[in-house]
Amino acid sequence: MTRDEITALIGARGAEAEELRREADEIRRRGVGDVVHVRGIIEFSNYCRCHCAYCGLRHDNAGLERYRLEPPEIVDTAGFIASLGFGTVVLQSGEDMWWTAQRLAGVISDIKAATGMAVTLSVGERDAADYRLWRDAGADRYLLRHETADPELYARMHPQASLENRVRCLENLMELGYQVGTGCIVGLPGQSAESLAEDLLFMQRLNIHMGGPGPLIPHPDTPLGSEPAGAVETVLNMMALVRLLIPDIMMPATTSLETALEGGRMAGLQAGANVIMPNLTPRSVAAKYEIYPGKKAPGLDVHTEIQRVRDLIDAAERTMGTGPGHSPRACLS
Ligand code: SAM
Repeated sequence: MTRDEITALIGARGAEAEELRREADEIRRRGVGDVVHVRGIIEFSNYCRCHCAYCGLRHDNAGLERYRLEPPEIVDTAGFIASLGFGTVVLQSGEDMWWTAQRLAGVISDIKAATGMAVTLSVGERDAADYRLWRDAGADRYLLRHETADPELYARMHPQASLENRVRCLENLMELGYQVGTGCIVGLPGQSAESLAEDLLFMQRLNIHMGGPGPLIPHPDTPLGSEPAGAVETVLNMMALVRLLIPDIMMPATTSLETALEGGRMAGLQAGANVIMPNLTPRSVAAKYEIYPGKKAPGLDVHTEIQRVRDLIDAAERTMGTGPGHSPRACLS
């Protein structure tokens, strides 16, 4: 597919958009089957040193009450997730330097020893040495969205950070043998369809294992507080295009999509997605991980959230994955 064709399809609406998503659904079925992989997320710290213009965890958001789970609480929560029969835990946080590489490595190896689950990390930009330590401790996967592949837009959205360093981190993670996930935010101010096409080509060039786009949900206590939310139609087209460009990708129907539109996760599953990531952060702190307002899951108790995910997968006439649910490409290597 050429860049121009991709750009045109990003803006597709009506019958053309439906056809695109139907095609992606078919390629998903042939490429990775009908299984939906479930990854339980633990958001273990909302401290963050960054200044991302869209994110409620940004360092300058003085209105946010900060928390940090203790290592044993994280390991216990992972044990609970394993007891539910799930094969992957995702450990996510802001860029919290209290978490030295050694500390987090201890948690990773304790979870591996106690549960054998696949461990996915999503803790931001670190040195290659930190990524290596965590890989050696047993981490299998790493999620680091590139957010936007447009260097100027990236610089505007991320004061004190650069796309160059983000890409370097992604390359280091790939070299270390992680299954790597990336993706972009749809709806950043000044973002064009051409820029979104570049996001898709970036993901294809990197040959990533996981990821996809999600909509901007404006947070009132950030510089983007009065921007409109990212268009769900555009996100769904982008997801379908990701599936066409990288047929074996593990792609989530995100919580942000459900927040932007009731039923968004179902629409995502029908537009190429094959992963759901329920929020299983202990409810004593979950509401404080406020990257954007109105996050769907923390309002529900953990068991209700899990039941919703089961019902969603049933309603989509798909089956829930068991085991770690590795990328098909990782299984071959
Ligand atoms: N600190 C880690 C990092 O930088 O990758 C992980 C945590 S960060 C909060 C996880 C993701 O949340 C980001 O990659 C970003 O795409 C998303 N995010 C943050 N604020 C958002 C918002 N207002 N709307 C949509 N997505 C948002």
